[in-house]
Amino acid sequence: MKMTDEKQFQSRISRVLITEQQIAEAVRAAGERIDREYKGKPLLLVSVLKGSYIFLADISRAVSIPCEVGFMAAKSYFDGTESSGNVQITLDLAQDISEYHVLIIEDIVDTGRTLSELVKMLKAREPLSLKVLTLLDKPDRRVVEFKPDDALFTIPDHFVIGYGLDCGEYYRNLPYIAEYSED
Ligand code: 5GP
Repeated sequence: MKMTDEKQFQSRISRVLITEQQIAEAVRAAGERIDREYKGKPLLLVSVLKGSYIFLADISRAVSIPCEVGFMAAKSYFDGTESSGNVQITLDLAQDISEYHVLIIEDIVDTGRTLSELVKMLKAREPLSLKVLTLLDKPDRRVVEFKPDDALFTIPDHFVIGYGLDCGEYYRNLPYIAEYSED
């Protein structure tokens, strides 16, 4: 069902969890950490679509050293709010990652299934190094052991939307992170 009713759209934004300003500040600091860690190294920032498209756009502009960007897509969540645990690469990188230090730019680590699978698959391609930076971490929901190398915000077990994160493909365009509730 396509959503066109603005009132209904607004009514499902339960409360703002992380403001635009808090995100901007955390992204700026993460950019500085990346500059320090990867100075003088061939760096590839890998975005896992679609959820991380806004985060990648902001992080890449917070980085001031030379870097390239690459895009992947993996399917693990379908139209609702439950993880399926079934991870499939639907769009692969164009780059041969054996020539790069790879930093995966992820929107959220929830059960951990998607990233633990993706990391395994990418490590098999023997990158110079492989780390994961996530915007959000929901450690209470973990079902497989997975710890991101860097997480900008740790959040409780709530379904969140905004800043690239969707519910049924809507709400990605919110400039902040909010809790979702279906009235
Ligand atoms: P995991 O494999 O860690 O369970 O799930 C990772 C993917 O599930 C994320 O990349 C994201 O697309 C989706 N996901 C997990 N939690 C949330 C959430 O609270 N909100 C939204 N919009 N997506 C989520």
